Amino acid sequence: MNSIFDKNGVMIFPNPLHKTIRESKQVLIVKECYCPNGHNLINRKAMFGNFPGILLKIRQKNDEGLIALSPVYGDKSKISLNIELIDKEILGVYCPDCEVKLPIFSKCECGADLIGMFLTKDSSFKEVAAICTRVNCFNSQLKSSEDIISKIMNV
Ligand SMILES: [Zn+2]
Ligand SMILES: [Zn+2]
Repeated sequence: MNSIFDKNGVMIFPNPLHKTIRESKQVLIVKECYCPNGHNLINRKAMFGNFPGILLKIRQKNDEGLIALSPVYGDKSKISLNIELIDKEILGVYCPDCEVKLPIFSKCECGADLIGMFLTKDSSFKEVAAICTRVNCFNSQLKSSEDIISKIMNV
């Protein structure tokens, strides 16, 4: 196992929340998100501060690995495992459980695809968190009714 896991299988991070997010009064936290087959992508193996991250399988050219994204909307923290990300490369993004390719939500202004992670188990694009597949593009969108994401005061 990779040394980034501690003995409980949890990844250890320094506090990754950006200063601006720590200082803002409210932040949005994605509490659950799913692949098209209903697997929860939120995984306590990747903790960002007190919040479990979003764990995805990625493919870059002939390499495969895992990437964990911060569940804090607007926080660009991410960590990759077993793969070295190449700046501006476009990634294939898959569910780590069933390896289904995550669906295309829309086009990013950078020309790559935004892929969608469903915020509800019924796989509706009405409730979706979308991220760009290009390394270091950082474009993300959240489309949701407010009750399925938590607003945390003064994180
Ligand atoms: Zn799945
Ligand atoms: Zn993009």
